[in-house]
Amino acid sequence: MKLTSVKAIYPKYKNVGTSWRTHLWQIVVKIETTTGITGYGYGGGGKASLPIINGHFAELLCNRDLNSVDDIKAIWEDLYFESIPYGRKGIAIMALSGIDLALWDLLGKAENYPVYKLIGTKTKDKIRAYATGTDVEWYKEMGFTAYKFPHRWNSEKDYQTAFDTSEIARKIMGPESLIMIDTYMSWNSHVTTKMSETLQEHNIYWFEDVTTPDELEPQSILREKVKPTLIAGGEHEFTRHGYGELAKSKALDLWQPDITWCGGITAALQIMDIANKENIPVVPHRGGEPWGLHFIASTQCENLAEILPGSKDAPRDDLWIGEKTTLNGFTHPSDKSGFGVYPNPDLIP
Ligand SMILES: [Mg+2]
Repeated sequence: MKLTSVKAIYPKYKNVGTSWRTHLWQIVVKIETTTGITGYGYGGGGKASLPIINGHFAELLCNRDLNSVDDIKAIWEDLYFESIPYGRKGIAIMALSGIDLALWDLLGKAENYPVYKLIGTKTKDKIRAYATGTDVEWYKEMGFTAYKFPHRWNSEKDYQTAFDTSEIARKIMGPESLIMIDTYMSWNSHVTTKMSETLQEHNIYWFEDVTTPDELEPQSILREKVKPTLIAGGEHEFTRHGYGELAKSKALDLWQPDITWCGGITAALQIMDIANKENIPVVPHRGGEPWGLHFIASTQCENLAEILPGSKDAPRDDLWIGEKTTLNGFTHPSDKSGFGVYPNPDLIP
């Protein structure tokens, strides 16, 4: 089949997150073909991604052949190369991720395969889900057995807030559950070292994004200091090139590429190859979304998918129709062709 039109759309969100997300949250990519099959992808970069896709990438994509995974790889390399002057990381690669996922969706639909089958042999039948957020009682009620809470460092009193939140989490989730903390780059080496002593009795599985992603050496030193807690990160890193550098730096115990930002399934598979060689566990950022679930199901990723359920009565935008829900702490990808989801027409202008 040939690609006939490519369009990136910024959904009409009603409940988007704060700070940069208000302006630059996720986009939907729609690609049409000569066969009448439409592929949908999900990328980052918000409104700033639209001119990259609707202008530059659309020009490069129209009339391209798409009949195999090798075709997707060739398209990825072309878009990466052509966007180097303004790309390599950040918004251009977040835009490219949306294209890549739409191409995998298209190929899956054309061959009548779920994407996990295009990726390879299934390695997991059910995928353990972990909940990220603050409504831990509700997550426990829903059957989650793994939980991550956000913690932000503001002042010395935050050793105590981290201790109290960990204590509550451990008590509610139980002694066998996994408990993780995402600091969103608000801790530093000193704070992280002291936190590992303060929180020792709560047996935290990982500390996530304890510094900015450019502070590689400090994180590599922390790995030894906070054992057995893992130093996790990677949601702000891109492509095999970025992860290749990450591997050399030995900064992280556990990698968390975001499939909708790091370059799509194509880049995530290359990142996975590096991780396998280096023996680094991979737990994709927001891996409980359809794209992550197909990826986790057929790769050597850890059996753990991140879900962001929000809070019990908080309103949310259900952008993707056909998304799998979590049951008793487990989830799985759709068995329909492609990713098995399509965007909610109420949110797409
Ligand atoms: Mg995070």
